[in-house]
Amino acid sequence: MVTSKTLSTPDLLARLAAIVGPRHVLTDPADTHSYLREWRDLFMGEAQAIVRPGSVDEVMRLMAFANEYAIPVVPQGGNTGLVGAQIPVGLPNAILVSLTRLDTVRAVDPVGNTITLDAGVILQKVQEEADAVDRLFPLSLGAQGSCVIGGNLSTNAGGIAVLAYGNTRDLTLGLEVVLPDGRLWNGLSQLRKDNTGYDLKSLFIGAEGTLGIITGAVLKLFPKPRSQAAAYIGLASPHDALQLLSLVKDKTGSQLTTFEIIPRLLLDFALKHLPAARDPMQSPYPWYVLAEISSSAPDGAAPLLETCLAEAFEGGLIGDAALSTSLEQRNSFFRLREEMSGVQKREGGSIKHDVSVPVHKVADFLDRAIAAVEAFSPGCRPVPFGHLGDGNIHFNVSQPIGADSQAFLAHWDAMNEVVHAIAVEMGGSISAEHGIGRLKRALLPGVKDPVALAMMRQIKQALDPKGILNPGVIL
Ligand SMILES: Cc1cc2nc3c(=O)[nH]c(=O)nc-3n(C[C@H](O)[C@H](O)[C@H](O)COP(=O)(O)OP(=O)(O)OC[C@H]3O[C@@H](n4cnc5c(N)ncnc54)[C@H](O)[C@@H]3O)c2cc1C
Repeated sequence: MVTSKTLSTPDLLARLAAIVGPRHVLTDPADTHSYLREWRDLFMGEAQAIVRPGSVDEVMRLMAFANEYAIPVVPQGGNTGLVGAQIPVGLPNAILVSLTRLDTVRAVDPVGNTITLDAGVILQKVQEEADAVDRLFPLSLGAQGSCVIGGNLSTNAGGIAVLAYGNTRDLTLGLEVVLPDGRLWNGLSQLRKDNTGYDLKSLFIGAEGTLGIITGAVLKLFPKPRSQAAAYIGLASPHDALQLLSLVKDKTGSQLTTFEIIPRLLLDFALKHLPAARDPMQSPYPWYVLAEISSSAPDGAAPLLETCLAEAFEGGLIGDAALSTSLEQRNSFFRLREEMSGVQKREGGSIKHDVSVPVHKVADFLDRAIAAVEAFSPGCRPVPFGHLGDGNIHFNVSQPIGADSQAFLAHWDAMNEVVHAIAVEMGGSISAEHGIGRLKRALLPGVKDPVALAMMRQIKQALDPKGILNPGVIL
């Protein structure tokens, strides 16, 4: 483990203050608590200080200083990550570097369809900036009001539009990164084509802050759809949902932008805990799909979706569907979907899995995994939901009604083993979009190709030989 033995705490704090200004070095527990606490209370960290640089130059000086004294550094964006990678757990010597003051949109180019921005810009602001020039930035997830682009890049975030636009990696043209030794890599390329060697930006995307601190990025924008139509669709099973996916894809191609699955029990949680939530349909169904079609033709989306649903209805694939008839209704459908993580907390302990399997195997995976966790923990309430169109299910399991939540959560690792074993056996991944972080670090050697792991260690060693950036994360 790295330590900063050669600097006393007052000296360290003075050096940090000289770089970012005393106001931006936080040590009072009242100020540091929100940075050190993970929102679900799964992780609580410790650090010598929270440091809030206000410029790229300050980040460079911070890293050069940390590297000189081998001080562990944990980068943090919006602190919405779900695997504990942004929290300095067991690192009392660490400094936590919060990037949220780097929040300038540097340039928007509606002709080249790019936006160049600081790493601390909140995702929702990026969407709004794109909207202001009649463009779309498609990354969209439940935490978008708090998470920031540097965090999205470092986790290669997915969300609800991956089906049509890809994940954050696919949305990135260039990066600016401060390396662990304080050097700046200016890779802010706007090029769509550039075959001049290794794709370095890809190394930092999804690296969870272990290889460098991302300070800026060039991201892709897209033409805004001229019409969108969304529907909540009630159906009997995930098998029917898969058939529906195939039908809608056949008819709409890349115009299908969202295809999410939700079990009835999770909708019940939302209806119980969210005063504004409304059941989108009159009768209950065991499963729901939230689907959206986006079209470049004004008035193109709704008729297309209606045609798909009519065919699915005639073929007995679906029981009912509620179509959005206004933007407000469309937004309320999506708000309901976005609340699906939060409402689980209100039902007590919840053991989580973020797995993916090949798309055609999702329904079989759900059958097997639901049966397995019910056998493992009788009375537990599986509420698997999420990005069916990407083969990515948030396979979450709520505690039995009235059970002791701590006793239930004590089975976290054992239940993970049950679910992960099924996913891996089906050719899947134990982390589809949230990353490895601290939460799944111990699991990685069991599922990752040994040659891949060895290459990852070599890359880490080459870029961060002192191991100061986010120690204990991924590797
Ligand atoms: C309600 C809710 C819904 C969510 N839905 C989704 C979803 O649909 N899809 C999805 O993929 N995720 C989802 N997430 C997880 C989370 O929002 C994403 O992982 C997000 O990308 C994290 O961004 P952040 O700014 O909060 O990063 P943080 O949590 O602060 O950090 C995440 C990781 O990035 C590193 N990091 C942060 N900034 C930098 C930087 N500038 N340079 C280098 N490393 C950095 C941190 O060290 C850490 O490893 C959800 C979370 C919540 C709370």
